[in-house]
Amino acid sequence: MKLKRFVSIPIVSVFVFLGFSYYVTIFIFIEDWFGLQTSAGVLNSLIFTLLIFLFLFSFSVCVLTDPGEVPASYVPDVEQNQSPDQEFHKRGVYPSRCDKCSAHKPPRAHHCRVCRTCVLRMDHHCVWINNCVGHRNYKSFLVLVFYATVASFYFAIIITICTFNKDWDSIGNRPLKSFYFGCWCTSIGLSLVLGTLLGWNMYLTAHNMTTIEVLGPNMLKWLWPTAVSHIKDGLSFPTARDSSNQ
Ligand SMILES: [Zn+2]
Ligand SMILES: [Zn+2]
Repeated sequence: MKLKRFVSIPIVSVFVFLGFSYYVTIFIFIEDWFGLQTSAGVLNSLIFTLLIFLFLFSFSVCVLTDPGEVPASYVPDVEQNQSPDQEFHKRGVYPSRCDKCSAHKPPRAHHCRVCRTCVLRMDHHCVWINNCVGHRNYKSFLVLVFYATVASFYFAIIITICTFNKDWDSIGNRPLKSFYFGCWCTSIGLSLVLGTLLGWNMYLTAHNMTTIEVLGPNMLKWLWPTAVSHIKDGLSFPTARDSSNQ
């Protein structure tokens, strides 16, 4: 049962942290800044709630989507492999066999020791989603990192403005100061880590494959994690020559 994947310490930690962040952002910081009775307070709460919902949806898709196993019937195309234009020849990577699965591996597939299987276009095994990031869930992973980055920047901006707006001299409450400072440091640290991760993945995507290969041809569906009807079988990939002919 795939739902069992949610039973892991990192995933439970993500939910606990998310619940905490959601509560403090809405009921402490937005309340403190605008007040939840004002239209600005309601609007900011709704925007943050939507971001958290989109994050949770992409997160669940990432956890529950099979990253893509190599079909048992897969056999490398010998004729194709002999072509000097093929990508694996250029990069010096040849289709090979996996000793552990005793089966052929297409280009870009790797064996994951945690999942105990070969995964198509394997990126990495991510403990935070308790799943591999591979061919079928790479888009939802990218979209997940995008929403996490936007939500954490939003969280950081609200905390920063709230902290600077407060008249600390007249408050003189040390535990409250420490709480604000702790939340501010966490939000800035998280935004930097997630922003770097997003930038790195966008860089890799732009260099390894076209944006359309990952996100799909319809721009309106780019940020929807389950819009993946455009992805191919993951057994072969277009070469530089194919792309230039298009
Ligand atoms: Zn394997
Ligand atoms: Zn794995």
